[in-house]
Amino acid sequence: MAITTLYTEDMYLQEFKATVESVTDEKFVILDKTAFYPKSGGVDGDTGTITRESDGKKFAVIYTGKFQGKISHEVEMKGDGDKDVDGPGLKMGDKIVGKINWERRYELMRYHTAAHVLSGVFYQEGKVKVTGNNLVLGKGRIDFNFPDFDRKMVEDFVRKANEIIEKNLSVQVTYISREELEKDADLTKLAMGLPKGIQTVRIVDVGFDKQPDGGCHVRALGEIGKIEITTIKNKGKNNRRLYFILKKSA
Ligand SMILES: [Zn+2]
Repeated sequence: MAITTLYTEDMYLQEFKATVESVTDEKFVILDKTAFYPKSGGVDGDTGTITRESDGKKFAVIYTGKFQGKISHEVEMKGDGDKDVDGPGLKMGDKIVGKINWERRYELMRYHTAAHVLSGVFYQEGKVKVTGNNLVLGKGRIDFNFPDFDRKMVEDFVRKANEIIEKNLSVQVTYISREELEKDADLTKLAMGLPKGIQTVRIVDVGFDKQPDGGCHVRALGEIGKIEITTIKNKGKNNRRLYFILKKSA
């Protein structure tokens, strides 16, 4: 089966050609393949543009999400003011060029990779499990399970994460079979939630910690910059959160 999620193969792909498969409610566009990352796994989705090849008309993609297993691009059919806005919107069979809003995506990649570094350090240093995250433009949040919550320890974890980032380890994407995943002690804890039909698993390795992951990451940890804590919240066992921002390294 052909890969339709181009971002899983090339996370730095900014522009691609595709064909419109369907348009629903005059705004939800499904393509035969796409580099747009859909909002998932606590990471915000891409925005950008879709340009029709036949007449050069450009449409803004204002949201990308996953609906019924397909990646849906919410498109502003009026266009973005760049071209004549009258005339028909996108329709099935249109050949298009998709372009990701790269500045936004790249920042989300930095935040997503930072969240992996934090979760690796939390687990390896303190057996603290990250239970969720929310990564949007300009800010990140990770939720964690820390029975003996200790603010000082959380600050130490972040310091340690920044030390690892400074080493500029490279980020690798590999694929392993479900059986391999279940045999790997480090990954078994993550294998439990894996849907039955999935036989091949994409693994993102940030140099010292690996996780099954379908998202977009930077190539080397140095691109993350520096993690700065904005708030640490301790509101009972199930509501421990770290809010952070990223500073670009000088
Ligand atoms: Zn991830």
